[in-house]
Amino acid sequence: MRAITLNQPGEFQWTELPVANEPGPGEALVRIRTVGICGTDLHAFKGRQPFFSYPRILGHELGVEVLRVGSGVTNVAEGDLCAVNPYLACGECISCRQGKTNCCICLKVLGVHTDGGMREEMVLPAAHLYPSTSLSLEELALIETLGIGCHAVNRSQARAGERALVIGAGPIGCTVMEFLRLRGVSFEVLDLSASRRDFVQKHMGPSRMHESAESVLDQTPELPTLVFDCTGNQKSMQSAFSYAGAGGKLIFVGLFVGDVTFHDPDPFHRRELTVFSSRNAVPDEHRFILQEVEGGRIQTKHWVSDLCPVGGMVERFPAWTDPSSGILKAVVDWR
Ligand SMILES: [Zn+2]
Ligand SMILES: [Zn+2]
Repeated sequence: MRAITLNQPGEFQWTELPVANEPGPGEALVRIRTVGICGTDLHAFKGRQPFFSYPRILGHELGVEVLRVGSGVTNVAEGDLCAVNPYLACGECISCRQGKTNCCICLKVLGVHTDGGMREEMVLPAAHLYPSTSLSLEELALIETLGIGCHAVNRSQARAGERALVIGAGPIGCTVMEFLRLRGVSFEVLDLSASRRDFVQKHMGPSRMHESAESVLDQTPELPTLVFDCTGNQKSMQSAFSYAGAGGKLIFVGLFVGDVTFHDPDPFHRRELTVFSSRNAVPDEHRFILQEVEGGRIQTKHWVSDLCPVGGMVERFPAWTDPSSGILKAVVDWR
């Protein structure tokens, strides 16, 4: 069976793997049909992903087809098309016992900590498959990405009528906007890139666009009470404290390797801010997302700006790491 392995930063290689095993109890053998490419993959390619080891088979945003199921599997059957929960949690640690499998202390994410889906077939725990009879394979591959925004908005407990600011209008920022919109929260967006601002303006329904910090701060003292930083940029994350209004919440969706510092008395204490981190998503959120996409309340068709046949991926990949390429989301087509 063929696979694409990232040998080291900047170097993909087609490799030959043994044929996938037959599925054991509770497992399913699946054929990979689509693989979404996200920031994690791009950082791994560039050698900037923290705690990442090479060689690694990438691929955690998957649309798959069930080929065979093992004993005891009832949630999926041969021929089903499914989205995949790529977060393999232990089920026993302190975070898993609280239902927070998203931050399991021994979490293994497919394509990050363990080999992922850039291969023809693989065996997965059937409980990690979410079948859908109506979604396209591209839509299925985007369920995991949407989970990031869904979880971040759930963390914030955003309420209808509140005002939010989303910093960073890449794919993750757009997922946050989708779930704010579903909750009836109006949102402003700050992004330095004109092409990303155009995308948001056209597709996401922002209440206002900002191209600079000054433009956000002009609104003082009536600042937004919810600020989502989706940049993973140290400067942006530190500035984000000053964008949140009194009593507000700051949610770090993106992350970077290093320290985030802030001035305690102002803005943090004076405004009594609350700071959240947000990591991955939980299965209930994935199921909710599937329902919302199936019901047409979330539309992701226009997100995929590059659907690339797998044969062309190795050549195309470097272009996806270039923010000026104007590509919001690339999906690799393994059909
Ligand atoms: Zn991802
Ligand atoms: Zn655990």
